[in-house]
Amino acid sequence: MASVELDDVTKVYRGGEASVVAVEDVAVEIPDGDFLVLVGPSGCGKSTTLRMIAGLETATDGEIKLGDRTINDVSAQDRNIAMVFQSYALYPHKTVRANMAFGLEESTDHSSAEIDETVEETAALMGINDLLDRKPGQLSGGQQQRVALGRAIVRDPDVFLMDEPLSNLDAKLRAEMRTELQHLQEQLGVTTVYVTHDQTEAMTMGDRIAVLNEGELQQVGTPLECYHEPNNLFVAEFIGEPSMNVFDGRLEGDAIVTDFFEYPVPADVSTDREDGSGLVLGIRPEDILVNERDAGDKGLEADISVVEPMGNENTVHLRFAGGADGDEFLATTEGIPNVSAGDRTTVEFPAEAIHLFDAETGAAVKNRRLSFTDAADGTRP
Ligand code: ADP
Repeated sequence: MASVELDDVTKVYRGGEASVVAVEDVAVEIPDGDFLVLVGPSGCGKSTTLRMIAGLETATDGEIKLGDRTINDVSAQDRNIAMVFQSYALYPHKTVRANMAFGLEESTDHSSAEIDETVEETAALMGINDLLDRKPGQLSGGQQQRVALGRAIVRDPDVFLMDEPLSNLDAKLRAEMRTELQHLQEQLGVTTVYVTHDQTEAMTMGDRIAVLNEGELQQVGTPLECYHEPNNLFVAEFIGEPSMNVFDGRLEGDAIVTDFFEYPVPADVSTDREDGSGLVLGIRPEDILVNERDAGDKGLEADISVVEPMGNENTVHLRFAGGADGDEFLATTEGIPNVSAGDRTTVEFPAEAIHLFDAETGAAVKNRRLSFTDAADGTRP
């Protein structure tokens, strides 16, 4: 087993006139045994990063290390890294047993009895012993995915690389497999890099997540750090479902002025910004207080266009008076909804919950205050 380190890794695809910078100066360390989720929108460079670690692409610049060893020039076969893809890529004419044994037959000099034993052990671990004599065509999607994972595990690699391995599965099975994969990874203790475009998957699976956008690393942190203390507007809007609400504003004296409201500048925000400089105010849907209709003049007036009750919580679609369709913002409330579509109500944005971002750079100027991040080590006091 081994740690993985990317040291300012860049990948430029050159083709004819155009060149694409797929990954730019990405630096991240994945300690031995950790589970890192690489997350970002389609085209942000996730697969390219993974393929460089696997040795399927060469880095244009920077260093890739496995443990203490720089592996830029080591061939894929010699890296002892196993990759699991979205498409299971099982051999259709071989049985599950033969599919799992194949890699070992190719890459080791184990006897067939030893190989058989390893395959059986891994199959037991994955709960697929009953399937060993079937062919992939006789398996469900979830079973095929288990076999594909089993085939990677059987090789006892130093590192697992997983590229959207669960995206072919239906929602329920995907949720089950996520948990299963996490348990398995903990049990095996193999350093794992897991790629997904799905922020929910990233939030629920990773010890740490690395958020990528346009080839550049935006933030590496625990899921909760990225959620509550985003480095910038991109991370703030990408992580969290429904997304953080954002309102473009500018600084005017002691207030942030948006098209719909003025918000007092929080005391802990430095006032050395120029008047008129752009600030984006962000607030998560669950932090907005939606008052009952008769709350009087408390808060900001808003109209409710839709209420989606989901049982445990409700998504309330709101618009400030004078706002157009595109100005809609969302609040989530718990329990039985206290408002309905067509109501005019008031909302409040609690000072401790708001985020501010520099409109020009997107950098976070202020993040929400959180009691549990008050402790120096980020744990709840
Ligand atoms: P992701 O996995 O996040 O969807 P990729 O790593 O596949 O993103 O791609 C990152 C960028 O590099 C995209 O702009 C993509 O079009 C480009 N790209 C990927 N592979 C190649 C290639 N072989 N040649 C040229 N451009 C590529």
